[in-house]
Amino acid sequence: MIIDPTAFNKYNIGMTENKYSLVRSFLQRKLKKKIRLSTSRSRNFIISVENQKEVMLIKIHSQFLKAPFAVLDKLVEYIQTKNKNVENELKKFIYKIPQPKKKKTPVRVEKISHIGKVYNLKVLFDMLNERYFDNSVTANITWGRTSNSKPKRSIRFGSYEEVKDIIRINPELDKSSVPKFFLGYVIYHEMLHCKLGFIKNDGKKNEIHTKKFKELEKQYFAFNKSQEWEKQNKERFFSNNSGAGT
Ligand SMILES: [Zn+2]
Repeated sequence: MIIDPTAFNKYNIGMTENKYSLVRSFLQRKLKKKIRLSTSRSRNFIISVENQKEVMLIKIHSQFLKAPFAVLDKLVEYIQTKNKNVENELKKFIYKIPQPKKKKTPVRVEKISHIGKVYNLKVLFDMLNERYFDNSVTANITWGRTSNSKPKRSIRFGSYEEVKDIIRINPELDKSSVPKFFLGYVIYHEMLHCKLGFIKNDGKKNEIHTKKFKELEKQYFAFNKSQEWEKQNKERFFSNNSGAGT
């Protein structure tokens, strides 16, 4: 039997407060035993059963409270047989239920503009690409949008968006007071992200600036000078901030 994950919509087995007792009495009837029922929302969890003398302790994924009787029958079958196929059907029910749709964010059409008032990003990008990457970096590069948001306590000079393969540079850097070596450093940093990608670390937080990344970053000809310049000049960007990235 194939369980239609959307089927539960057709079988509203009770109002919110009744679902729990409905499922419990259903299981009790079918299993002919006193049931103590609890629920869990943990990831990958389906069901756990502890059969005691007087009572059967059953913990089920809370989605089962919305399940049609056909699914609850499967639940009973699984409790009785521990059959793998049945377990898989239950998993399908729990984890393929259509999730409530996220609000769509309007797609903004992005203009690629590498020519600024002072700096042409593409020229710098191409120079760096040749010098450090054998022209292998594929990303597009653009000045980011200026934002009118409130002053912030931190600033991101550049970002790399992997999906769109695009490097954005904070337009605050498009000033003659910003030395070329520093802008180059920001671009180089983002090019490294493009080159190395974002490494997933066992599903934990993505590791962004790996050891390898940091080693390669130091190869930039003005690495120390750029770090120093950033330290000395960072504050002046804070009052008039824009851009985002890593
Ligand atoms: Zn970074």
